[in-house]
Amino acid sequence: MSNLKVDVCVVGAGPSGTLLAYLLAKKELSVLLIEKSEKIGKFFRGEHVNEDGEEILKKHHLFDGVEQLGLLRMKHIEYWHNGEIFKAIDPDPSIGHLSIHVPQANLLTAILKEAQKLSNFHLLLNTTVSDLVQDKSGRYVAVKTKHGEEVQMVEANLIIGADGRYSTIRKKAELDSMTRKHGFDLLWARIPAPANWSPSIKNASIDDLQLAVYSQANNFIQIGWNIKEGSYPTLHRQPISPFIDKLIEAFPELEETVRNNIQSWHDFVLLDVFSSISEEWGKEGLLCIGDAVHTMTPTGGYGLNCALKDADVLADLLHKENIADVDFTDFITERKKEAKKLLASQIEMEQTFLENFAVLS
Ligand SMILES: Cc1cc2nc3c(=O)[nH]c(=O)nc-3n(C[C@H](O)[C@H](O)[C@H](O)COP(=O)(O)OP(=O)(O)OC[C@H]3O[C@@H](n4cnc5c(N)ncnc54)[C@H](O)[C@@H]3O)c2cc1C
Repeated sequence: MSNLKVDVCVVGAGPSGTLLAYLLAKKELSVLLIEKSEKIGKFFRGEHVNEDGEEILKKHHLFDGVEQLGLLRMKHIEYWHNGEIFKAIDPDPSIGHLSIHVPQANLLTAILKEAQKLSNFHLLLNTTVSDLVQDKSGRYVAVKTKHGEEVQMVEANLIIGADGRYSTIRKKAELDSMTRKHGFDLLWARIPAPANWSPSIKNASIDDLQLAVYSQANNFIQIGWNIKEGSYPTLHRQPISPFIDKLIEAFPELEETVRNNIQSWHDFVLLDVFSSISEEWGKEGLLCIGDAVHTMTPTGGYGLNCALKDADVLADLLHKENIADVDFTDFITERKKEAKKLLASQIEMEQTFLENFAVLS
C-alpha cells in the first residue's frame, strides 16, 4: 500500500466537490479530488442552475466555459391542463431567462478544465474511498482508497466528504442524518424534443400528481413523472400504454417523440425520492458538504445550487495557513440554516402544487 499526502482530500467529484477542489487549488493548497466513477457527470442529476448557481459560476469566471460546452436558458414555466396551456410564468425582462439547463458533464468538465491547469490539483477517477483513518487523539487524518485491487492511503490536513446522498464519509465518521420521505417517487425519461420546442418547464397534474417536461440543451426533453411512493413495483407489472396515453393527453405535441422513444418501463429511470439533513457536519479533521449532509428532492431544483453555495462559502474560509485548525462552527450554522429553509420551501411547493390548477375547478 502506497501513501499520498495533501493539504485537502475531497471525496466525490459532483458539483460541490469539484468546485471546492478547484477553488482551493487556486488558493495554492495541494488538493486531491477522488471520484469512484470512471468518468464525471451523470444523467438525471441536478441540471437546472438557478440565479444563485449562475452567480457563483460567474463570480469564479466559470460560466463562459460552461456555456461554450452547451447550456439552455429557460424562457417560461407553463401549467397545462387537458392538452392546453392555461398559465405561464415569464422571466424578469431585465434577466431574460428563468433557470438554466446545464448538462452536469458540461458543468464539471468546465470546472475541471480550469483545475487541471494547476499543478497542485490532482484527480483520481475510478477510485473509491472505503474508509477513514484516525490518529491517537481521534482526529481524522487519512482516507483509504481502492482502485481495482490497489489499496492506497491518502493523508490530508482536511478531509471533505462531498460524496452525495449515500455518503460513505458521513457514515464512517458517524455523523447523524435524518431522512424524510415525501409521499412520491419519480420516473425520469430523456427523449428528443419535437421540432421548435420552446425552452421551458411545463407542468401538468395527472391523478393529483405532478408531471413535468423540462427542455434540455442539445434538443432533448426530460420527462419527470411523480408516482405514489413505493408504487413502482406494482406499476411496472402493468401495461405501459395507459401511462403513455395520459402523457400524450397532457402534452399532445409530444405524441410522435413519446411513441418513438418510450416503449417500455425500461425507458424510464426510477428515483427513490427522499430528503435528509444532518445536525453534525464534521469532526476534527473532517467536514461534509452538499447532498452528503442535506439531500433535497428534485422539487424546485435547489440541490445542485445549494451544493455549489457550500463550496463557494467554504472556499472563502480556507487558507493554506488555517487548513489544519479551522473553526467550522459559523459555516455549519449558516449553511444548515439555508439548507433547512430550502427543504421547508420544497415541502410547501410539493403540498401546494395542486393550487396551481385550482383556477380550473
Ligand atoms: C433526479 C434528480 C434531479 C435533480 N434536479 C436538480 C435540479 O434541476 N437542480 C438542482 O439544483 N438540483 C437538482 N437535484 C439535486 C442535485 O443533483 C444534487 O443536490 C447535487 O448533485 C449534489 O451535489 P453533490 O456534489 O453534493 O453530490 P453528488 O452530485 O451526488 O456527487 C457526489 C459524488 O461523489 C461520488 N462518490 C460517492 N461515494 C464515493 C466514494 N465512496 N468514493 C469516491 N467517490 C464517491 C459520486 O459518484 C458522485 O460523483 C436533482 C437530483 C436528482 C436525483
